[in-house]
Parts: sequence; C-alpha cells; structure tokens
Amino acid sequence: MLEKILILKSYIKYKYLLKFKDRQKLEKYQNKRIMQHLRYVVGKSEFYKNLYKGYNLEELNKMPIINKQIMMDNFNELNTLGVNKEKAFELAISSEKSREFQEKLKGITVGLSSGTSGHRGLFLASDAEKSVWAGAMFAKMLPKGISSKYKIAFFMRADSNLYQSVKSKNIEFNFFDMMIKIDDYIDRLNEFMPDILIAPPQVLIKLSDLRTSGLLKVIPEKIISVAEVLEKTDEEKIKKAFKKEIIHQVYQCTEGFLAYTCECGTLHINEDIVKIEKEYIDKNRFIPIITDFTRKTQPIIRYRLNDILVDKQEKCMCGSVYMAIDKIEGREDDSFIFKNEDSDEFVTVYPDFIRRCILYASDITEYRVIQLAVNKIEIQINEVEKADESVKINIKNEFYKLSKMMNFELSQINFESIRVESGKKLRRVERKFKI
Ligand SMILES: [Zn+2]
Repeated sequence: MLEKILILKSYIKYKYLLKFKDRQKLEKYQNKRIMQHLRYVVGKSEFYKNLYKGYNLEELNKMPIINKQIMMDNFNELNTLGVNKEKAFELAISSEKSREFQEKLKGITVGLSSGTSGHRGLFLASDAEKSVWAGAMFAKMLPKGISSKYKIAFFMRADSNLYQSVKSKNIEFNFFDMMIKIDDYIDRLNEFMPDILIAPPQVLIKLSDLRTSGLLKVIPEKIISVAEVLEKTDEEKIKKAFKKEIIHQVYQCTEGFLAYTCECGTLHINEDIVKIEKEYIDKNRFIPIITDFTRKTQPIIRYRLNDILVDKQEKCMCGSVYMAIDKIEGREDDSFIFKNEDSDEFVTVYPDFIRRCILYASDITEYRVIQLAVNKIEIQINEVEKADESVKINIKNEFYKLSKMMNFELSQINFESIRVESGKKLRRVERKFKI
C-alpha cells in the first residue's frame, strides 16, 4: 500500500508539479536538490565522507568525477547502507541463473548491469527509490495518464523486482524473457495484445519482421526502444512495420532514468532527476557526466558514462526546457582507433562515421562492423550481399574516402556472414580491443 502511495506521489510530482518555464528556474531547482542530496550522502557514505574533508560541500564541481570502475572498486564504502559487494553479486547472479528475481539484500533490490565491456556492474535500489522511479516513468511515458488501463509488454534480458513494483489494477505488465526465442512468444503476444511494447532494438527488429509477415498481430499504441542504441535504419524499419510516426526511446541504464522521447519525437534529458555536465569530444558530441539527485542508496555523483551523445541544434516544438539530444550515438569505447598516416599518433573515429561507410555504400540495413585490431576490420553482412562484389567494393571505397578525409592508415577489411549473438546487446559498430 505504501508503495502505491509513493508511486502516485512521484507520478504527480513529475507529471504536474515540476514544470519549469525557463532554464534559470530549472537550474535553481537542480542546485537546491543537489545540495540537499550531497548533505545526505556525505553523512552516510564512507567514500564521500572521506573525500569531503578537503572539499567544500557547496561546490559540486569540485567533487571527483567517477566512473563504473571507481564505483565498483569502492562499492562497499560508496553505498549508503553498507551493502557488501560480494554478497550483492552472489544474490544477483543466482537470481539470473534461476530466473527468479524476487530476493532482496537488506531490503534492497540488487540488479546486475550487462557486462559487455567486461566489467559487470551492480545497482542497488530501495523500495522507496523504486517507487519514485516507477512514478517518474509513468509520468513521462504513459500516453493517457495513470488512471487509464494499459497492457504493457516488456522484453528484457533479466527481470528484476524493480519492474514488479509497477504492477497495479490498471496496469497489466507482462514480462518476456529475452533468453527465450522470440518465435515462442508470438501466441502469447497475440493473445495479450499490448498497448505499449517495450523492447531493445534487436527484439523490435525481429518483431517488425513478424508483424510484416502477418504472424504477429499486435497493434501497440506506443513502442518504446530501450537498452541499446536505436539506429536510424532500424528505427525506420520498425516504424514501417508497425505504422508508427515515432518510435519512443527510454535512455535508462543502471545509473538511472536519463532521457525519454517527447510527443514530438525528441529525446529530452530528465533534468528534473539528473544534472548533466557535458564533456565535449567535438563540436556537437559529448560524454555525459551525471549527478542523480534522487538516488540515495547508491549515490551517482559526477558519474562519467561510457556513452557518446549528440546535441540537438534546433529547439523542440514541444516547448520543454529540458536538454534536447539529437541521438545516442553509441559507446565511447566503440569508437574505432586507427594509426595516423603521418605520425605515431592514433586517430579516433566515432561510430557514426563507421555506420555511414556502410549506409552510403549500399542499401544494407543488417550489418555489423567490428574492429578487431588497429589494422583489422571485420564487416558482417548477409550471404547475398557478401557474394556481391560491387557491394564489397563500394564499402571499401567508403572506408578509403574516410581514411583520406581523417588521415588514418586504412586497415585490412574482411567480409563475414552476419552473426548476432543472442542474449547479448546488439552493437552494430563495435571495437574489440583496448589501446
Ligand atoms: Zn520535445
């Protein structure tokens, strides 16, 4: 019961109370919340208590910037409830194995973040935090308000009791485990007929094929892409299959609920939940450094994400004062690295430039480009395209042009058949080595 009240309270807050006329008012609110939050965290977290001996509590920008590695290395001291890392891992891993996600540690939900980068991350959320999260999610994502009836189908790699909290009388929530083949879900989906379909792009792509072939009959009012980068070509395919003007996105990771798509189709940062500092890597691209002023159990303060975001230049028609993002381009460590043609230095090439080499060369939509070493690229396409010499020549030409433009030594390019490993996040552009 308390949970439901908290969700409703949070819903009202994010839906109706937090309305900002201009950036100034928003920033004033953020600063006030951050100061309250820092006071709480410094009192409870050993990590920040130690740091604060030399820092001024009033100045967020003097706090150290942390990342996943630092967060995990200092897990026990950083969280405010003294949750032990080994015990939390044990619980999270056994939940994943048994596909039962109900158990808690010290009353706290423990989740595992995907380990694509080699480091598995842990996230902690109290019941109150889960309720605030659910309320904010409903406020921003439900098309008709909380009192309408909804049927939500949610595909994900692992369930967590984080998502169990959002069940209610009006909202029927159906979880589809991504570890099971999608074809086995067709009947269940056709029977359930969801109004809202939430899934990573790799699932939405498969469902689009099933929808186009007529096997899948669902007509969701809203489709929300989560957990992976939504590529433009994939987005178009999903739109076409489901006859939608907009494919919505929720940019949500273990570090919080960071952004959502408004009704005009623009991604806006949830600046009523997080403050974002931008570390620019070129004119429009930046790495976000986030401070979430709602997360008390596992504080996220000046946390540098491994994502590249792109600024949106034009103002959004919806009128929101929240930061607008053109897109989430991909992970920073998926940028390709080549040798400079004239020196020993390296040249970094962002994922979008690699994508364009494929898209400019042909009509290919199903592809993966993997950099295996500084001088080795593997391009995965389907069998028919692989057999077509002109496709391969065009792609190689695009890479050649790019190498001249950016002055790097062109790698050896090999073509292989496409392989998408199930259970893994789909990354069309991926770098498999570290410098
Ligand atoms: Zn907007």
